Amino acid sequence: MLLSTDYVPAAIERELERCWGCRVLTHYGMTETGLGGGVECAAGEGYHLRETDLYTEIIDPVSGLLLPDGEEGEVVFTTLSRKGMPLVRYRTGDRARLITTPCSCGTVLKRLGRVQGRIETEVHLKDCQRLRMSDLDEALFPIPGVLDFIAQVDSQGGRDQFRLCIHAVPGGEERVARRTLSALLHGAVTGTLFKEKVLYLENIAFSNTGWMGNGVVKRQIQDRRVSDTVQLLHCSSG
Ligand SMILES: [Zn+2]
Repeated sequence: MLLSTDYVPAAIERELERCWGCRVLTHYGMTETGLGGGVECAAGEGYHLRETDLYTEIIDPVSGLLLPDGEEGEVVFTTLSRKGMPLVRYRTGDRARLITTPCSCGTVLKRLGRVQGRIETEVHLKDCQRLRMSDLDEALFPIPGVLDFIAQVDSQGGRDQFRLCIHAVPGGEERVARRTLSALLHGAVTGTLFKEKVLYLENIAFSNTGWMGNGVVKRQIQDRRVSDTVQLLHCSSG
């Protein structure tokens, strides 16, 4: 199975492999790169980039400066062979890193590591720590019974609060809630953030009826702190 998208959670890949009894490989590309960008080989360790057509760089998303190979930043493409609509240092908004070690398949092509989602959808919590939908996906999708979820950050009493609404297989919601809390507390990235007590069991809700996906719109953490502030300013200005 070949999945073509900018980001697929590893847990979803493993589940697809289990359900379909086949190998899942992923392809990374976008309309702007001429659809193709890079594809995984059988080693499954990063996308082998189409280097004859695309020059790939990783930059610091804030300063715009080039980062050394191996450091994570924003993926930037320059098209090398495009005659119509050539792109020079096109910022994709995707976060990833170049893998510096050779691939076991022996190719000389550069490898781009797994895309970690879109930079603009990252939510910044206290101490400049950032939370990404991909971190939540990797922590929650391996939990049996979890089908989808909506994540939201708001502010209560000056503290960031995190809320989850989980679409789960009916029955066993309490078990799913406890496993969710445990997965986030012990997750590689989320552990540091969630030990600050931003998520409580009572902040985990369930919805099993009329669950609507958001179609082609990318899933992202809803940051209500911004809209709350805007609302407050609007109210105070009369
Ligand atoms: Zn390879």
